[in-house]
Amino acid sequence: MASSRLFGAGARFSHSAIVLPAPRHRFASRRSGYAVAAKAHLNENREYVIVGGGNSAGYLAHAFAEKGLADGKLCIVAKETVPPYERPALTKAYLFPLDEKPARLPGFHTCVGSGWERQTPEWYKEKGIELLQGTTVSGLDIAASTLETSSGDTIKYGNLIIATGCTAARLPEKIGGNLPGVHYIREVADADSLVASLVRAKKAVIIGGGYIGLEVSAATSSWNIDTTVVFPEPHVMFRLFTPSIAKHYEKFYEDRGVKFVKGPVVSKIVSGSSGRVEKVELSDGTTLEADVVVVGIGAKPAIGPFVDAGLATAEGGIQVDGQFRTSVPGISAIGDVAAFPLKMYGRTTRVEHVDHARKSALHCANALLETLTDPYDYLPFFYSRVFENSKSSRKLWWQFYGDNVGESVEFGDFNNKYGAFWIDDGRLKGVFLESGSPEEFALLPKLARAQPSIDKARLQSVSSVEQALEIASKQVGSPPATAAAVG
Ligand SMILES: Cc1cc2nc3c(=O)[nH]c(=O)nc-3n(C[C@H](O)[C@H](O)[C@H](O)COP(=O)(O)OP(=O)(O)OC[C@H]3O[C@@H](n4cnc5c(N)ncnc54)[C@H](O)[C@@H]3O)c2cc1C
Repeated sequence: MASSRLFGAGARFSHSAIVLPAPRHRFASRRSGYAVAAKAHLNENREYVIVGGGNSAGYLAHAFAEKGLADGKLCIVAKETVPPYERPALTKAYLFPLDEKPARLPGFHTCVGSGWERQTPEWYKEKGIELLQGTTVSGLDIAASTLETSSGDTIKYGNLIIATGCTAARLPEKIGGNLPGVHYIREVADADSLVASLVRAKKAVIIGGGYIGLEVSAATSSWNIDTTVVFPEPHVMFRLFTPSIAKHYEKFYEDRGVKFVKGPVVSKIVSGSSGRVEKVELSDGTTLEADVVVVGIGAKPAIGPFVDAGLATAEGGIQVDGQFRTSVPGISAIGDVAAFPLKMYGRTTRVEHVDHARKSALHCANALLETLTDPYDYLPFFYSRVFENSKSSRKLWWQFYGDNVGESVEFGDFNNKYGAFWIDDGRLKGVFLESGSPEEFALLPKLARAQPSIDKARLQSVSSVEQALEIASKQVGSPPATAAAVG
């Protein structure tokens, strides 16, 4: 497990920062449509520089502003050309059919996902936060405390915070991974391109049975597009769901016309005479017709320039301690890219979920801006929501907290409310709930954090979610979420 002893002293730098434009692009760093010339000291006072501009960067900016420390001190260097937004929306309300009022920016800029202020371009301007958008960082010089951009500019930083997230894993070009009509979804531009394809699509093949595959296939089915999901594992959400949990979800999708092809992998994506995708060939010889293909086969941490510069790595990401400090003093990493000590379970991990992106940003801000902060103590939390558009007869909304280790016990009725506990060594380690009430969902983190001892035989005899939650709640002394009687 990573521990803070592995890391440097975390010295804080407060250089007076300067930007050194490459001669051929004298004003290149001001070229973005959204770049905000907030203050007279633009480009001269980059005490804190965030590389990223996604979910965690938006929350970090929020924290700086809350502490009154944003003005003139903070700069965000971002590849995308829009300010930070709540990325999960891209495969949810963004993909609603066009007559269903789909979400569009500026509606879901951070931090609306937490019920906080919507940070529009004007918000950044008001707070004196510099946004260098459409700017990709391609190099890091640790000795000089500078970043190099792909257009050749050099940006000097005081403290650096890496918040570059992940990029979608791609299928190789030689098997058709880059054909027109083949989509990957990570950024808002990807979602726009997918929507443009969906408008004329009749048959969709979704590759991957994880979060992206399930969210996108729910969306394409609500567009009345004939949808097939292909993946090599025996069931959907293979890393989290048990086979019996997965069965309920698969049936729900199948009842709405979605087909699943489990086992084979994609061997080739083939284009038609127009050059656009026409069919997908599978390793078992099956051919699926498709005029749109969405690939959701995982993501890779965007760590290139930083690893090249010598930052320590772990779990495919950038290694940090419980304060999000990397192996180099003055450089932190947050969100999807950070491999951090998961204190509860005594291991180092990376988490590619928005709850961690938000919390790691807020924790990092405290570590950078306050004198003393306890080490990050994260409780893993995953969720998804699908079939939320107004034509859907039912929405699915599940949440999971904790660790899916040990044996699982399921309870409730999937047609109404359904859940599962993972029990290891007689203790509750993971809790899963589909279609709970807000009070019941709010109870889950308390249970997963407390890890109460659970009588498995008693749990197996319950018939409802309410009863199961009451049994667990009593063990931690919390009141149950509802007043249901336990038999
Ligand atoms: C389509 C989709 C749906 C999701 N749904 C859910 C969900 O339902 N629930 C959930 O918990 N999580 C979900 N997630 C995961 C969640 O969105 C991420 O965990 C979260 O966005 C991570 O935040 P981040 O700031 O680390 O990275 P990101 O939000 O990905 O931001 C990283 C930013 O850095 C930029 N960047 C990368 N490299 C560079 C560079 N060299 N120079 C400059 N900029 C760079 C990128 O362009 C990007 O804008 C979803 C993710 C996606 C893609």
